[in-house]
Amino acid sequence: MITAVRKPMEEIRGMIAPFKKILIVGCGTCVAECASGGEKEVGLLASALRIDAKNRKREIEIKEMTIDRQCVYEFIDQLTGIIENYEAVLSLGCGAGVQALAEIFPVAKIFPALNTTFIGQTKEPGLWIENCRACGDCKLGDFAAICPVTRCSKSLFNGPCGGSKDGNCEVDPELPCAWNLIITRLEEKGELGRLEKIYEPVDWSKMGKGPRKIMREDQSI
Ligand code: SF4
Ligand code: SF4
Repeated sequence: MITAVRKPMEEIRGMIAPFKKILIVGCGTCVAECASGGEKEVGLLASALRIDAKNRKREIEIKEMTIDRQCVYEFIDQLTGIIENYEAVLSLGCGAGVQALAEIFPVAKIFPALNTTFIGQTKEPGLWIENCRACGDCKLGDFAAICPVTRCSKSLFNGPCGGSKDGNCEVDPELPCAWNLIITRLEEKGELGRLEKIYEPVDWSKMGKGPRKIMREDQSI
């Protein structure tokens, strides 16, 4: 999923300062899972802004709405007939969601309330970790489903750097060394032989020089 964290209140307050009628739009998918942009977080932000406005003796009207996905037209369309009634929109979607809203409603003043961070996994309650950089040429099958591009601090493809200590990374000792994990898991699976192969460096060109796209004729109407 895409992870994100809420922007500081000071920044959010600054973005909406000129406006009195504000629509806060959450997204019920990735950012809801990482507890930054779902229905609950929309409610929390709305309450905080209402209290803040009251303390500053400002009149403000806030409507809360959460759609299933802010990056898919069929869901965004639920805002038609509503968004036009507000002077500003605070989106709690990821960067893709904010841009999709702005594309469908180009006249609306749409502001991001989140900082989009990475593609990751919910490791435990309150902890999300980055585990994919969307390199465009997935090699997880070779590395026991542990991504060296993302989880090794040096993105090494042919074994550890040698600095690992007690199973942790020399760059950030709080992180497990990805190569320690890869070797341990391959050993458990009896597949250590995979590491006899020399892997080519990552072809970063697959990450593209501009925005990437996927086109599938079987999915087009
Ligand atoms: S190899 Fe590439 S696509 Fe696969 S998990 Fe790592 S960064 Fe993501
Ligand atoms: S200690 Fe492990 S994870 Fe850290 S840079 Fe070296 S090989 Fe990569």
